[in-house]
Amino acid sequence: VIWLGQAEHSAITTCAYCGVGCGFKAEMKGNEVVRMVPWKDGKANEGHSCVKGRFAWGYATHKDRVLKPMIRRRITDPWQEVSWEEAVNYAASEFRRIQGKYGTDSIGGLVSSRCTNEEGYLVQKLVRAAFGNNNVDTCARVCHSPTGYGLKQTMGESAGTQTFKSVEKSDVVMVIGANPSDGHPVFASRMKRRLRAGARLIVIDPRTIDLVKSPHVKADHHLKLKPGTNVAVISAMAHVIVTEGLVDETFVAERCEPKSFNAWREFVARPANSPEAMEAVTGVPATELRAAARLFALGHDGKRNAAIYYGLGVTEHSQGSTMVMGIANLAMATGNVGREGVGVNPLRGQNNVQGSCDMGSFPHELPGYRHVSDSTARGSFESAWGVELRPDPGLRIPNMFDAAITGSFKGLYCEGEDVVQSDPNTQHVAEALMAMECIVVQDLFLNETAKYAHVFLPGASFLEKDGTFTNAERRISRVTKVMPPKAGYADWEVTQLLSNALGYPMNYASAEEIMNEIAALTPTFTGVSYAKLAKLGSVQWPCNEAAPEGTPTMHVGEFVRGKGKFIITQYVPTDEKVTRMYPLILTTGRILSQYNVGAQTRRTENNQWHSEDRLEIHPNDAEDRGIAEGDWVGIRSRAGETVLRATITERVQPGVVYTTFHFPESGANVITTDNSDWATNCPEFKVTAVQVMPVMQP
Ligand code: SF4
Repeated sequence: VIWLGQAEHSAITTCAYCGVGCGFKAEMKGNEVVRMVPWKDGKANEGHSCVKGRFAWGYATHKDRVLKPMIRRRITDPWQEVSWEEAVNYAASEFRRIQGKYGTDSIGGLVSSRCTNEEGYLVQKLVRAAFGNNNVDTCARVCHSPTGYGLKQTMGESAGTQTFKSVEKSDVVMVIGANPSDGHPVFASRMKRRLRAGARLIVIDPRTIDLVKSPHVKADHHLKLKPGTNVAVISAMAHVIVTEGLVDETFVAERCEPKSFNAWREFVARPANSPEAMEAVTGVPATELRAAARLFALGHDGKRNAAIYYGLGVTEHSQGSTMVMGIANLAMATGNVGREGVGVNPLRGQNNVQGSCDMGSFPHELPGYRHVSDSTARGSFESAWGVELRPDPGLRIPNMFDAAITGSFKGLYCEGEDVVQSDPNTQHVAEALMAMECIVVQDLFLNETAKYAHVFLPGASFLEKDGTFTNAERRISRVTKVMPPKAGYADWEVTQLLSNALGYPMNYASAEEIMNEIAALTPTFTGVSYAKLAKLGSVQWPCNEAAPEGTPTMHVGEFVRGKGKFIITQYVPTDEKVTRMYPLILTTGRILSQYNVGAQTRRTENNQWHSEDRLEIHPNDAEDRGIAEGDWVGIRSRAGETVLRATITERVQPGVVYTTFHFPESGANVITTDNSDWATNCPEFKVTAVQVMPVMQP
């Protein structure tokens, strides 16, 4: 036991869990962390923290950490520990063999949004410069890729518009498809403080989340919609705003494209988009839709500052991108962009979702969201990297899996991402991985994906490396190495070893050197440096000559794209329909003490608070099926089936069931389907038709 008073030294770093990006002081004794103290000067958290950042860092020293590189020729062979040199050379020779046999495009790389900006940048550089293609993707594909697409189309930048602090100026807060109390607890507390001070609250969610009715706050309107009908709700609200004369005409005239606005206004005003017409579609009473729209547009107490916060309940749908654009339309039509207290604010799930996207981890975009077909942008990287880059977008994650099954994609470098547990339709993912000839997994643990790997390269935790994370408010914060990498290398160093083994030289001496290269090549980062981060604590991009200390609020005076663009958002029902065979809709989410696939939190004391995934089911649906509290139930969808225990609760509405996805044993993604967003392929995790029945304990 190390007592609290024994810390010998400390360092400022950033939580490696959610997109709030809380600053922490890691207090150390020698090379051991004594405790993590929320940093009072951290601008994202101002001295607050949650149960994950404060207590759940023990996974870094957990006995399950794999600290030696390993290889095996076939996935049925036992792992063999080898030297770093042998493992990296084997991976490189396999990748080159595959490219020689199947072509340049037969391999690719994935980088997790849990990794640092510098690591993300280096993986996409490895793929583009050493692999020679654009087959790079990030786990943002399966969470917030529609945010990047939708906000770029409407406002011109793939990022949220505000600081977290901005909520303190909001008079109306609208939370859509997000559960901040569990997913973003420190920001939820900030929001609740504002709500307790008088701001009004609209919640759009199929489930009665904590914000709807907690001891501290109560929603003025809870639009408890049927899963999959977000776009119908936003269209109905837009209809009210347009037909009742609630548009901010001055803002629209000065700031937005008139042609796109007029087309959108004509579209949403149609009777088919009225709350009365949408009531049957959404399950939300027309009176509630009207009241919520009026509150959002008119504000509260004579002040019209309305802010939208949204999460994966918006993006993880077949119309995820459409809904993001619908949200942007609503904010622009009511003049709620470009100042404090308003805006469109995606609540990013992982610590560095924003950053991994910023760093060019998508197959169609170079760092700074510049399309690979942009010859000017490509030219600057070609000069700096000394290679010719491809102008055609590469494969997205689901395209890689499909190509693997059809035989043209054979090798994958996977840094920090567990696609088997986190991606939809586990059977399809496993089939794709088994069809590949070389999978390299770089991770802290032998995760579910590593079961299909041929090379395992040990990763480093956030305590073992330098770098930066970028949170949901575009805030770049330092990650500080407080102990040496347990396996010998930080992740960026491993990527560098692999690149050198492939014959493309990388010679960075530090993570700071990588950031300097990012800043030199990315217009929104030109003012970012470790020295500035040390001086200011953190900085929000764009940070450049025009904004040397960063940009708290985006689109002030003018949208990044010039004029804001309205885009028509026609509601299209998902293909995933309930039937007599599959009469319930499954939707998924998170719980406070666990985090995503649970690889980290399951290996900490947090596991005692939530040690299994449960299926929430409404009392009526449970009674119909003879299910009692705690019973084992089987869930079957068109994709697969699994078993877990039931929790009977009115948090879910009749016809809807809900579970978390933190445990591989219950495998929520065994059930989820291949349906995905039309624009980005973000999976439709939030709508799966299922049947549920009591079963014997497995
Ligand atoms: Fe970490 Fe998010 Fe909790 Fe802050 S709110 S301590 S960033 S998990």
